[in-house]
Amino acid sequence: MISKNMLTDLFTFKKHLARLVGHKQCYLCHQTSQELVCHYCMRDAVLPLFPSPGHNLLEYKKVSEHLLRPHYENLQALGTYDGILIGLINQLKFANKPIAADVLTKLFTQYLAQRLIFFNVIPEAFVPIPLSNFRYVKRQYNQSRLLAKNLADYFSCDCADLLERVKHTKQQSQLNQEQRKSNLADAFIVRRNFPYKRVVLVDDVITTGATINEACKILRQHKPELSIGVWVMAVTLSSEEIATEEISP
Ligand SMILES: [Zn+2]
Repeated sequence: MISKNMLTDLFTFKKHLARLVGHKQCYLCHQTSQELVCHYCMRDAVLPLFPSPGHNLLEYKKVSEHLLRPHYENLQALGTYDGILIGLINQLKFANKPIAADVLTKLFTQYLAQRLIFFNVIPEAFVPIPLSNFRYVKRQYNQSRLLAKNLADYFSCDCADLLERVKHTKQQSQLNQEQRKSNLADAFIVRRNFPYKRVVLVDDVITTGATINEACKILRQHKPELSIGVWVMAVTLSSEEIATEEISP
């Protein structure tokens, strides 16, 4: 039987094949390019970046006041859910374009990798947020796993499927506060024991962090001393708010 992860690995295989053949055009500007994102776009892409890349975003008041009390210690994001990032994330999630995961992680590593190494926050393993079977059948790939695999390849560490989603959850935005709590309760289980002391959960976008928090809670219950970070491509917050925001002490 073909498992979910085997199918996601098939996308990774197709991606490597595309690299061998050579990309014909830049994904962003559609100019002829052997690279997925041409060097002009890498240089000039207007991204809604945070002012101090690599800094723990939980220390930004405007970010932290949007989030539920986090069960993780460090939050990193390429930028705010704005401009070009909205387009790429929508293509990844709703337009059957798994290659958008490559574009996002390429931009993520271009702008953040050196700073993340400097801040010493590279984990031993990247952990994808699993999809429910219902969503997986609809999308045919787990966008979170594609992102996690790319990051694991880039930083030469593991991509570890430590979590399993055992319950299909509704979109949190459609529910009231009480329903939100019960919606996510018991959504995940830990699949196996693992040797890691430091992991990073990966997802495309964080809004209140309820889903990610639930996943962190389950991992922490399994291994209380575990250090957990969260890396996402975007945080839902307007870039204007962040640009004027001082980092709180
Ligand atoms: Zn380009």
